[in-house]
Amino acid sequence: MSFDLNIFLGIVYLATIYVAITIVYALVVTDFFMRMWKSKQISGMKRFLLVTAHPDDECMFFGPTIVSLAKNPDVRIYVLCLSLGDYEGMGNLRKLELWHSCKKLGVNESNITCLNYQHLRDNPKILWQPCHMAKVILHHVNMLDIDTLITFDGYGVSGHLNHISIYNCIAELMQNRLIPPTCRVFSLESVSWFRKFILGVFDVYLSYMTSTFMYVTNEVGRSLIRSAMEVHVTQYVWYRKLYMVFSRYINVNTFREIPHQTSPEAGSAAGRHRKFPLFRRNSSQRQKTE
Ligand SMILES: [Zn+2]
Repeated sequence: MSFDLNIFLGIVYLATIYVAITIVYALVVTDFFMRMWKSKQISGMKRFLLVTAHPDDECMFFGPTIVSLAKNPDVRIYVLCLSLGDYEGMGNLRKLELWHSCKKLGVNESNITCLNYQHLRDNPKILWQPCHMAKVILHHVNMLDIDTLITFDGYGVSGHLNHISIYNCIAELMQNRLIPPTCRVFSLESVSWFRKFILGVFDVYLSYMTSTFMYVTNEVGRSLIRSAMEVHVTQYVWYRKLYMVFSRYINVNTFREIPHQTSPEAGSAAGRHRKFPLFRRNSSQRQKTE
């Protein structure tokens, strides 16, 4: 196969145009439309809980939301990270990185919790069981009087099974009517690879047309999110640096609300399953190691 210089130059030309438009968009257009984007933010929020699986999820996936909320003095932001992210044996370092990252994003360090539970180990091939998460999530929701809870959706943005596990647990809590009705629950929408990496910042327009709730960052917000990711030193390898440039999740988050069950049938069904599988292993609560 011979090298075709014209095709190569064409690709370089298109890539240059793409980068130039992206830079112009990032610097100017987002601010122009920011008022429009704000109309789709979740209203009435005072006490917000983000439930993640690993240190770095907060800025890799939820950055635009946290940065936007941190600007509102009426909103208290809490972060519950269910594991140390110890897959490569660097859990203690990653826990510290989480604190530094949250500080950069504007989260008060006293509002961060990172668990080290035996049954919630960082592993992309392991689906965590709802019974190992349910009590601690409910405890945080009730103790902190949370009115808005946000987590991953059923694909978990990247397909990571730990992310998906959290959604499964919270969906089950909702189905069993164990989340207080005063707490609204939202899942972060996963999108196709094309929207995630190719459309990049331009996915904001598509998101506006297709989603009910969204948070968008401007260049200041993007810089904050990138600086937060930089303190995840153990994770900041070359492909994550590329991710921080091209990913849609640095520019926009969109959410779908998980409705509370209201029908009597749902309630009675919930009653039948209330002790299974969410709380079938009471002794497992002793697994917390710190
Ligand atoms: Zn993760």
